[in-house]
Amino acid sequence: MFGYQVVLLLLSLFTCAITFVCISFWRKLKRIENKDQKKTEHTGKKPKLESKIDPLTGLLCEQEFDEAVAAVLELRESKNLYILHIDIDNFSFYRSVHGKEAADTALKYVAFGIQDFFDGRILACRNASDHFYVFAEGELSKAFETILQWYDVLMRLIAVHAITMHFGIYTVKDPLIPVSEMRSYAKVATRSVKENYGNLIGVYNEDLFIQQQTRMELASNFETSLKDRRFVVMYQPKYDACSERIAGAEALVRWRQEDGSLTSPADFIPVLEHTGLIPKLDFYVFEEVCKTMSNFFGKNIQVVPISVNFSRINLYNPGFCNKLKNIAGQYGIPHKSLEIELTESAFFENEKILTDIAKRLRKDDFRVSIDDFGRGYSSLNLIKEESFDVIKIDQSFLQGENEGTAKMILKTIFTLTRELRLETVAEGVENRTQLEFLRNSGCDLIQGFFFSKPVSNVEFENMLTVQSMAS
Ligand code: C2E
Ligand code: MG
Ligand code: MG
Repeated sequence: MFGYQVVLLLLSLFTCAITFVCISFWRKLKRIENKDQKKTEHTGKKPKLESKIDPLTGLLCEQEFDEAVAAVLELRESKNLYILHIDIDNFSFYRSVHGKEAADTALKYVAFGIQDFFDGRILACRNASDHFYVFAEGELSKAFETILQWYDVLMRLIAVHAITMHFGIYTVKDPLIPVSEMRSYAKVATRSVKENYGNLIGVYNEDLFIQQQTRMELASNFETSLKDRRFVVMYQPKYDACSERIAGAEALVRWRQEDGSLTSPADFIPVLEHTGLIPKLDFYVFEEVCKTMSNFFGKNIQVVPISVNFSRINLYNPGFCNKLKNIAGQYGIPHKSLEIELTESAFFENEKILTDIAKRLRKDDFRVSIDDFGRGYSSLNLIKEESFDVIKIDQSFLQGENEGTAKMILKTIFTLTRELRLETVAEGVENRTQLEFLRNSGCDLIQGFFFSKPVSNVEFENMLTVQSMAS
């Protein structure tokens, strides 16, 4: 009983301390805003600020920051010094939704937070947009702690603005390299964790830089590769769990390099998504699939539905559905033979827009599937909305630990999907034990190395031909 009271007391003390920090921070910010306003009222114009200073935030500009950091590095040993890069997530989107004034206020909060929290023992700057750099001292583990504490206080203050951030650290190894280069290393470190909600801080290392360079090269080679038809579409058959016959396939792209090697999509799809180039590739794959199917129809081969992956960026394009219809129409492919795979993470971002598009695709008779179901934030709403024909169960259910729990979840999913008349596909099936469990639990289709790896269109055509002859 006594222990419980002590915990309560400690909790109240902690809440008071946090509130105090927040209030004093907020008051200081208000004082600065008022001072600026008074100056403006008095002179009738905006306060004249030194060109070295970013007029919005009062932090240094990039060039002055670089000079100041270089000067410090000349004077002292570079041990335990680091450059921190702070990036506000989706800031241009934030600005377009909340307007310039709210965006500027958010930037001021961040800048003031930096000055206040790090207490003048640092140098900090903002570039033209939402990128901040801080030059500070401390061991890496301590830096992590400081950043997270700072972020926590800042988030409590500006929760109303709903912004989130990611951070990158470059620890100064060679004080002689230009400071602008050190900043870009810190930025590379941020990028390495940018899409990752579980990891807020990236730390720069050589591998990251090489990875980044390769990615930039990939993006710059993309257009030529597309023109030279160096993207190869492979087909991974899906088998009926009971009859073990091919009942569908998924189109999976690979990138043929100059030396003939094939690069896996995991190595280039994220880059193309990041650079906004992915829709071009997705439609290229879709058209290749239509060509392949039209060839099958021409040869009287029994055609099975083929699914194509579409990245979420496509779904913000108002012409998306019409473009699919035009291409399918050009090759005379019935829509019900084409399946559009949308990943589950796409729904997490904006469930409403995406379920609307999925419904529209279904209205036009395309089949629509949720890919990688169960990998991320699965929402039962997705199923309730009746926007889909197929649920593709993520392969992690078959590969992870806690096999017993995973099996129980799978069985429940199959019972639910059967009631709702949704087709189920299990991905990543690698052995007969998995196949038998899935079949007995009511899974409809099986995709995985146990039956077949992704194969070329010629091999796929042979597989379908052999199957037709055997029946
Ligand atoms: P996905 O759509 O979930 O595709 C399934 C991935 O699992 C494929 O990897 C496939 O080769 C792999 N796989 C299939 N059976 C097994 C198995 O038994 N064991 C294991 N360990 N893996 C198996 P892949 O081809 O490397 O594709 C990776 C991801 O790249 C795809 O995941 C998809 O999200 C994306 N992707 C592929 N092609 C395209 C495309 O044309 N457009 C877009 N936007 N994304 C694509
Ligand atoms: Mg897929
Ligand atoms: Mg998948």
